[in-house]
Amino acid sequence: MWLGSNSKDLKVNNRLLVRDMIRKRGPIARYEIARETGLTPSTVSVIVAELLENNVIKEVGHGESSGGRRPILLELNPTAAYVLAVRIQRGEAVIAIFDLNQEILGERYCQFNTDLPEQVVEAVGQSFEELVSELKISPQKVLWCGVASPGLVSSHTGVVERSSNLGWINIPLSTMLTERLGGIPVNVENISNAAALAEKEYGLARGRDHVVFINLSVGIGAGIVAGGDIYGGLKGFAGEIGHVHVLDDGPLCTCGQRGCFEAVCGLRAILEKAKAVIPDETLQVCGKTRDNLTLNDLITKPLADSPEVQGLISETGRTIGMVISNLVNLLNPELVVLGGELSRLGQPLCDAVRAEVYGRTLEEIQSNLSIEISDIKGSAPLMGAYVLALEQIFALEEWGFHKSLRNP
Ligand SMILES: [Zn+2]
Repeated sequence: MWLGSNSKDLKVNNRLLVRDMIRKRGPIARYEIARETGLTPSTVSVIVAELLENNVIKEVGHGESSGGRRPILLELNPTAAYVLAVRIQRGEAVIAIFDLNQEILGERYCQFNTDLPEQVVEAVGQSFEELVSELKISPQKVLWCGVASPGLVSSHTGVVERSSNLGWINIPLSTMLTERLGGIPVNVENISNAAALAEKEYGLARGRDHVVFINLSVGIGAGIVAGGDIYGGLKGFAGEIGHVHVLDDGPLCTCGQRGCFEAVCGLRAILEKAKAVIPDETLQVCGKTRDNLTLNDLITKPLADSPEVQGLISETGRTIGMVISNLVNLLNPELVVLGGELSRLGQPLCDAVRAEVYGRTLEEIQSNLSIEISDIKGSAPLMGAYVLALEQIFALEEWGFHKSLRNP
């Protein structure tokens, strides 16, 4: 099969290359773009002129001279367009508007019954309308929407084929959202894959090609970066480690099986275990009751220092480490990133995971492996939803982008 590009594709690719260089490295001079991309200075000049005309980039003063005239520096125009990013989880959704420079301009956090997809779509639609009005942004300048959703997501069709946590089967989420958002295109990705995208762009996985991101939340999933790309398997469903078996006769999982990893180590399971092991006296000292115990309490003194909580964290870390060691032996990653709400259990959890993984994996495989807690500020899946949409915007056909920007 012939995979070469014709001159039109080549032109679009070169344009993407220049845009990306300015987005990631700006402020940057034309000659630096040429040097870094390998394009000729005249090609760069032509593309830069088009991008300036389309308002995608702007000139921001002069750089240092290397003998001749001081070069003009170029930077992305962060408010040339906007992105809507959504993270859905059982019982809650976060909806945010970003500029092109990864800044969150406005954000809504909604807690509601997510069992019905129509309610989720309505909540996103309403939040979008409130946010654009508050921020005084033209809705037409919001060019794309990215969504991070739990479950088996077909990212090509935007259908959530199954989410046992949300109780959804075959929900055409992207079509429903596009309709509610007045035609804004929507891409949906699995929450752990989205988080892995964010890690790759902004987090510890930057510049790494073999990474596993573990999203430790109510559900548990893995986003796998293999050879630099997200590994999805046949249908994009890879990484469902929340449903690997870890305990015979264990607790019932939302998927219908017993003893799944997330039924044993998911956020709800951990809170239930904490409620069962923390003695009344300890709870009284902290002014808590069993019913209102939260993850925050477990990471705050004095509860965090109690032997019961420390024991629970070690035990959880050991089980998580056991599952990760299987992944490590299987995939030979250079980095495993722990993210999601439970990663807030911090260093004690990470230490327990490390000890288990290093005890269970082959020496040659673990010698170049690091295991770290995500350092992304805020929600990695939300950032991932943003990256997903941003990639689409920057891959838009030239004239579609131009038209959208010119007719706000
Ligand atoms: Zn399960």
